Amino acid sequence: QDAPAPDYLANLNAEQREAVETLDGPLLVLAGAGTGKTRVLTTRLAHLLETKGQTERLHPQQILAVTFTNRAAKEMQERVAHALGRPVEGWWLGTFHSLAARLLRRHAELVGLQSNFTILDSDDQVRLLKQIMDAEQIDQKKWPAKQLMGIIQRWKDKGLSPERVNESVEFANGGAKYLYKIYQERLAVLNAADFGDLLLHCLTLFQKHPEILRRYQETFRYVLVDEYQDTNVAQYLWLRALAMVHRNICCVGDDDQAIYSWRGAEVGNILRFESDFPGAKVVRLEQNYRSTPHILAAASKLITFNDGRLGKELWTELDTGEKVFVKGVWDGEAEARLVGEDIEALQSKGVGASHMAILVRAGFQTREFEERLITLGIPYRVVGGPRFYERQEIRDALAYIRMVAQPDDSLAFERIVNVPKRGVGKATLQTLHQYSRDQAVSLPAAALDLIGTEELKPKMRQAIGGLLGDFKRWREMLETTSHVAVLETVLDESGYTDMWRTSKEIDAPGRLENLKELVSAIGEFENLTSFLEHVSLVMENEQNADQEKVTIMTLHAAKGLEFDYVFLPGWEEGVFPHQRAMDESGVKGLEEERRLAYVGITRARKRATVSYAANRRIYNQWQSALPSRFVDELPDEHVERISDTGLGNHRGNVSPGAWGADDWMKMPSWADNKPAESYNPYGGTGERRFASAGWQDRVRKNVIDVKPDGETSYTTSSKSSKYKVGDAVRHRKFGPGTVKAVDGNKLEIHFEGVGTKKVVDSFILPG
Ligand code: ATP
Ligand code: MG
Repeated sequence: QDAPAPDYLANLNAEQREAVETLDGPLLVLAGAGTGKTRVLTTRLAHLLETKGQTERLHPQQILAVTFTNRAAKEMQERVAHALGRPVEGWWLGTFHSLAARLLRRHAELVGLQSNFTILDSDDQVRLLKQIMDAEQIDQKKWPAKQLMGIIQRWKDKGLSPERVNESVEFANGGAKYLYKIYQERLAVLNAADFGDLLLHCLTLFQKHPEILRRYQETFRYVLVDEYQDTNVAQYLWLRALAMVHRNICCVGDDDQAIYSWRGAEVGNILRFESDFPGAKVVRLEQNYRSTPHILAAASKLITFNDGRLGKELWTELDTGEKVFVKGVWDGEAEARLVGEDIEALQSKGVGASHMAILVRAGFQTREFEERLITLGIPYRVVGGPRFYERQEIRDALAYIRMVAQPDDSLAFERIVNVPKRGVGKATLQTLHQYSRDQAVSLPAAALDLIGTEELKPKMRQAIGGLLGDFKRWREMLETTSHVAVLETVLDESGYTDMWRTSKEIDAPGRLENLKELVSAIGEFENLTSFLEHVSLVMENEQNADQEKVTIMTLHAAKGLEFDYVFLPGWEEGVFPHQRAMDESGVKGLEEERRLAYVGITRARKRATVSYAANRRIYNQWQSALPSRFVDELPDEHVERISDTGLGNHRGNVSPGAWGADDWMKMPSWADNKPAESYNPYGGTGERRFASAGWQDRVRKNVIDVKPDGETSYTTSSKSSKYKVGDAVRHRKFGPGTVKAVDGNKLEIHFEGVGTKKVVDSFILPG
């Protein structure tokens, strides 16, 4: 009788195997990172089909499996097919959204939609909400539509339809609930649903039509869920409803990796599982297969600084490996250089780029690394978002810069003429285009000609005339003021920064951070033209689709993934833990940041490299930064600390120095901008970690050098080249060459392979 265990089971430990083979009844797998939770789910799927396919006539259509991303679903599909040696079709495998949409399309009429309903993105949602608010005569300056969208989304995350909302929020004098109701009615008229609706409508459907729910409950004999700790209430209710009859529900998760509470996720769902499914079996996995002992120990220690954990032990059989590197550097540029060097060193040892990842806390942080990798000719991909210079707000800002530097740039003009809104519509643009074609002049030139004519309506003449006048003024300003200050002025006076500052969009703060970063970037160049040249080179850097690439992504996006070598830059107070998370959610926010740090470290298989910079350029000013408290929370015995901040190792090597603590707080570089407290996790007086006189002097020098005119002697890359005629140099794309002429930071180089080319200094390495 006893058939030998199928191959796929042989690759599991005893606990994993228990989790895979306990097919019937509710099962919760609660386990730390890298213990094989996802592997358990995948194997379980294979095992279900293999063992129950014949004997109990289990069809793939009777399995519901939820993953956190579409990519994860695809991978699971492939793995199961591989384990079984045949493809599997027809099962319900995907994200909550994709599965809910699939279910809803079949019954759309019952919730007031047609089966071909459209799914709205957030732009559409806002537009619709604005229309509704207009009709209701609600002051949108005071009550922005985007804020309302956020409120409605949170309600939907909680599974609340308009009738069920019984909390009142401060919006439009308590009118949010009413607006929500109208919004839902409008959506129905438009035969549309937003993302939150996909689940919400399902819940309504289940409630109003128990017979339909019953059908699905009977259909779904097995339900499986990955990353369970990050489900929200609506998703939880949806799962519970569907799994109630057969009760064969298996959820895997890790409370220490709950990082989506800002999107309505409730880690409490883990705790509710056992009460909602009495008799549930709980399996804990403790062996980690991913990370070396040092990495695992460092992450495990870090997470103990959180309260209220379910707690778990982790161990590994892997070889000791390297300690976690913690590197302190002077500034962001040095940090990017360091990561670049490490990546090159790994590559020269034969490690493929795809085994390395740079995981950042916030999107704006990618820029410095992107530029460094481009300089080094190392292919990379930014996962989960566009590359830095391709982001919407950056492209807008670049268009402004182009218009300042190149007055006839028609494309730039067209991009920003109505951003922020100046009432310039299609008709006006058509007039401009017409004239520009007829007269063979650029669009801005056409505009300039037409603002003195009757071709444009008075209002347009004023709007466009005002803008062109601004550009003229900004260009003149450039003759006396640093380009960095001009850019700041342009972004401010054009209303562009304000547009995002007043935006209630969830990603508006991130966009503002990107804009700040752009201003910092520009400070690294001599003038606008050299910066624009640099950007076009960066953008031109076409990448081959099937090349091995270094991955750059946010920590949030890295959940569930693993890489041999992981870089974790920017571990500084205010960056990580992120200031906003702490401001908005206090200790809870901090703990979620710490879970993110835990997620970050545990992505690494062989090596994790944490880094922090002692100085950051924020706008055009250098600001001192303190290492993240998470750096201190890493246990010494598993960490190798290397510091080149110019201040010695911040641990153990702190000399009192000549400065008193108060002087330190008064340093102009930050005192000018923000209260010192906000940079100091330990409150006003603070533990002094950077105190060597040499460092103070350097910071002081930088502040003095940077401030008066926006010029800085600190940046080496822009003012003049460190190369001279005759130097042997190397370029990643063009190969070895010899410098023929030097003009500022531009070099004319004769490359052995491709002839003579003009290249910016920063793209060149010593030969
Ligand atoms: P996370 O919490 O990060 O999502 P996880 O618990 O889902 O992690 P997996 O991604 O499933 O962990 O597994 C981590 C790594 O360990 C994978 O490379 C996986 O193939 C490997 N692994 C898991 N179980 C075993 C095992 N029994 N033997 C060998 N390798 C294993
Ligand atoms: Mg996983």
